[in-house]
Amino acid sequence: MSDRDDAPPIEEVDLLVTGIGELATPTGTLARAGASMGALSVSRGAAVACDGGRFVAVGAEHELTSRFRGREVLDAGGGLAIPGLVDSHTHPVFLGTREGEFEQRIGGRSYVEIAAAGGGIRSSLEGVRGSTEQLLLAALLPRLDRFLQLGTTTIEAKTGYGLTVADELKGLDVIAAANQAHAVELVATCLGAHDVPPEFNGRPEDWIEIVCEELWPAAATKAAFADVFTESHVFGLDASRRLMESAREHGLGIRMHVDQLTSLGGAELAAELGASSADHLEHVSEHGIAALADRGVQPVLCPLVPLFLGEAQEAPARRMIDAGCAPALSTDFNPGSCYCMSLFEVMSWAALRYRMSAAEALTGTTLNAACTLGLGHELGSVEVGKRADLVLTDLPNYSHLTYELGRNPVQKVIKGGAVVR
Ligand SMILES: [Zn+2]
Repeated sequence: MSDRDDAPPIEEVDLLVTGIGELATPTGTLARAGASMGALSVSRGAAVACDGGRFVAVGAEHELTSRFRGREVLDAGGGLAIPGLVDSHTHPVFLGTREGEFEQRIGGRSYVEIAAAGGGIRSSLEGVRGSTEQLLLAALLPRLDRFLQLGTTTIEAKTGYGLTVADELKGLDVIAAANQAHAVELVATCLGAHDVPPEFNGRPEDWIEIVCEELWPAAATKAAFADVFTESHVFGLDASRRLMESAREHGLGIRMHVDQLTSLGGAELAAELGASSADHLEHVSEHGIAALADRGVQPVLCPLVPLFLGEAQEAPARRMIDAGCAPALSTDFNPGSCYCMSLFEVMSWAALRYRMSAAEALTGTTLNAACTLGLGHELGSVEVGKRADLVLTDLPNYSHLTYELGRNPVQKVIKGGAVVR
């Protein structure tokens, strides 16, 4: 017997990431609400071992390098490592951009005025309806490349620019095809209740009937969630309730665009229905905040949208956190009201406009975002057992996530234990 027989056996793993200057991550599988949203696990001189697509060890580098040999070894270069970012609200399936509307808004026209003149969501309908699945996929894949470059490894992806049963299902098929073809993971949401299609002008109840009776049942095998734009000029509270109750009966989870442009009481409805998320909330009432906190319904906040639309009203994120809510932060990437895919930009704006700390902003773009998708047990933190989604940056520490504006700090992206960028 030699001394070497007493040494711990070296385990071989798919990937060993060393040289992590700082590892910052929320912890756990449940959404972090209130004060706990700002509690991160932060360690210096860390390493991470991945095998079979999952994290198998997370700890001090000297410890892990003595326990594991990586079939692939990646040196993080001394920068900050964070979980793969999760964008819990995007509209990425469209053809053609709407920069003309952006110019009009800068010139003083409002979002609602532009929509009433045939712009807005309806102007994107033409693109989706006139396109094949292949064309839409070809437009989507480069957008996913950019999400990945920006450290986003999972997105919730909505349809909503088809607004016929066939075109909405086509959008869901495009999302499914992209999921097969690209490293970014897409969670599909059918947003058939994004707007009343122009053919149903003056008789919105006929479209609601079709959505409930035809679209939701057909979408249920292709999407995880259904979504509605609850706003008095689109679907009011009664219509939204009917749409969401029907979606749930067909087995879809529910997400809702609420209280974005006016204080309609959408948050209260989302709370009552126990939605997976209540999104936007720029005009939420105090009663609405209390209802969301009480029912544990997570806000999904989009701090870039008021900026992009030139609207003054911000979501009262600080009051939501203080009331015990567990908000997620998203881009709301879409061609009309936010043409930005960067969750780093979102984190900075959440700090500047919402007065969220860097730790809260990171939780909002990782664990809390994953929890709105029902994936908190799989994604959103760097912990043993979770899927190995990791972003390596050249930032010195996590406070730089919000401090530094306008530069992409991502150096390497790991999705499911594979280096994908
Ligand atoms: Zn949206």
